[in-house]
Amino acid sequence: MADRPFQPLPPQGPPGPPSPSPFRLAPRTPTLASRIALPVVDEGPGTVRFRPFNDARVILLLRGQPPREGIPPGATPFWSLVATAPMGPFVVEVLRHKQVLSPPQWQPGMPPVDPQDYEPVDDVLLLPDGELRIPRAPRGFSDGEIAFIVQSIQLFSAMPGGAPDPAHRDYLPAGPAPFAPAGAAVDPRPIMPVQPAPPPGVAPPPGSARQGCDVVLQANTFNMPPRCASCGAPKETTLNTARTQSRAFRGKVTRTFAIPYCNPCASRVKGARSKGLKLGLATFGIALAAAALSFVAPGLPGVVLLAAPLLVSVGFAIAVMTRLAPPAPAPPAVGTADAVRLVSFKGERSVLYCANPTWAQAFAQANNVSPVPKSRSSRFGVGSLWTAILVAPAAALGAWFTSHPELHIDNAGAEPLQIWVDGDPSVVVPPNPGGVVPPSIYVAYGQHMLGYSKTGAGHADSASEVHVTMRDDFLYNPGKTACYWLVADSYGSASIKGVAQGPQPVLEFYAFDKVDTWFGDNPQSVSVSSGQSGDTRVAVQRAKACMELAADGCDEAARNAFVHCEQGATSDAAFAQCERAVSCGSKAGQAESNGEPPEPSPSAPAPGPAHTTHASPEPKPGPPRPAHSSHPVAPAASGSAKHG
Ligand SMILES: [Zn+2]
Repeated sequence: MADRPFQPLPPQGPPGPPSPSPFRLAPRTPTLASRIALPVVDEGPGTVRFRPFNDARVILLLRGQPPREGIPPGATPFWSLVATAPMGPFVVEVLRHKQVLSPPQWQPGMPPVDPQDYEPVDDVLLLPDGELRIPRAPRGFSDGEIAFIVQSIQLFSAMPGGAPDPAHRDYLPAGPAPFAPAGAAVDPRPIMPVQPAPPPGVAPPPGSARQGCDVVLQANTFNMPPRCASCGAPKETTLNTARTQSRAFRGKVTRTFAIPYCNPCASRVKGARSKGLKLGLATFGIALAAAALSFVAPGLPGVVLLAAPLLVSVGFAIAVMTRLAPPAPAPPAVGTADAVRLVSFKGERSVLYCANPTWAQAFAQANNVSPVPKSRSSRFGVGSLWTAILVAPAAALGAWFTSHPELHIDNAGAEPLQIWVDGDPSVVVPPNPGGVVPPSIYVAYGQHMLGYSKTGAGHADSASEVHVTMRDDFLYNPGKTACYWLVADSYGSASIKGVAQGPQPVLEFYAFDKVDTWFGDNPQSVSVSSGQSGDTRVAVQRAKACMELAADGCDEAARNAFVHCEQGATSDAAFAQCERAVSCGSKAGQAESNGEPPEPSPSAPAPGPAHTTHASPEPKPGPPRPAHSSHPVAPAASGSAKHG
């Protein structure tokens, strides 16, 4: 009842003077007062002028003596009832006053005088403390604009404590008024039906109670109804609704509207906002906590560790949207959250979604636009759902990959190998004679039994316990068939001091501090983040000379002795001496006897250009690449590879 818009009466028979709508002239009463929330132009003795729409048109409140001046007690050809306007629990009559003035004297050359100019029409609101005259013609206010004006008026009891008074009955809807004497005749005044049919001339409140409206403002200046955007009660405060959009090449821009609310609706909206924020943060925390399962129980199946965070956090978000959502407010207030949202804006244009269609209608009419019925979801907890959907998978993947380090498996032998992890068959790794990037598996951090066998075997022939951490890079060398060499390169001002490099002992399992390049050369240059003046890269490569010894049949002990010799060599000559000192396989004593570099063995694993041995631990002039590299390398660009 409180906030139905101004409505004209339905037409009653053919229009015209013979049957003006009857009315009862409600008297002024000192116990009921009006408050008009419109901009005041000026105030005189007994008059106040308002300018509702920031243009030339004004409306006039007559509140001096005598009351109801010039208004007849009943309908006349010049005075008729055109509508009743609900104002909270009260209702006021709206009379139409048509005057017939003398037409101005016509002068030759003038256009014909518009009859409107000498037959002005006003609508007069019979407020309990005055008469509000609203021009209709010429150049007056439209039905929609009058609806906005009516929405700006509040009636309240002037009695102590706002108590009712028998004199108020002239402003109460028809029916046995609570103070009416028993047996009083029913008030004959026409009153709006509770569910008014859409009258002609006024857009109906569009949509159902559940549907709101878009209102498209075309200018930066606009009129805002002085009514709560949620329930329609008089405005008591405002809440900002804002939206931030990114502009092409020009960063972000935020537009904000101050939306009127009554105090109860404002505190309800603020409560829903903060509750939504807290529950969104809770959803975020739940997604992260569920993702941390990868660290707590890394041995669980990957599908569990990856799906659990999504299921748990989406489940919580659904609970937020249903059981944890604040209760819907009592009508006529709408929605649990903001009654008005800024949907989009561009230039001077702004699209505002108003959940309360009645308010939307008043807002639109105050700005000479039409409301567009729209259903836009503003369901509580949607933010939580999006948080769950976006955060949980990313957190789960991040946690899983962190807690499941990558383990490269290099098979330098001649046969494919079945790899076993903790007694269960894992991948089959084919021979890797070319020394290309080896396959890898992801294993949970912690202790593992790594083993290998021929394919088809029922268990691992050989297994060893290894410790996998979340920080290092790991390489499995089943059967110790390969030898490795680390190449550390520095770029820019970075130093490789302390970075592991050079020949590596022959082991079955390696934990490297950091590996950037597997079985290849580090890049010529690297990109660094701003503020960084350089960086390092570490490549792990097969050690050719040691591999050759293995192919020649040298056992692990002999190759380890060779590596040990290389690690201790401080000069080219000492380095070369290491290979000559080898006494195993087909080369035993050969190099020493003839003093020639050994020929590549026919069974050498690396075909292609004849490789060089690891002849020098120090870079030589020229291409700054390690001597053991089998790949020709162009001279490094500045800031690139330089070996220390
Ligand atoms: Zn409200």
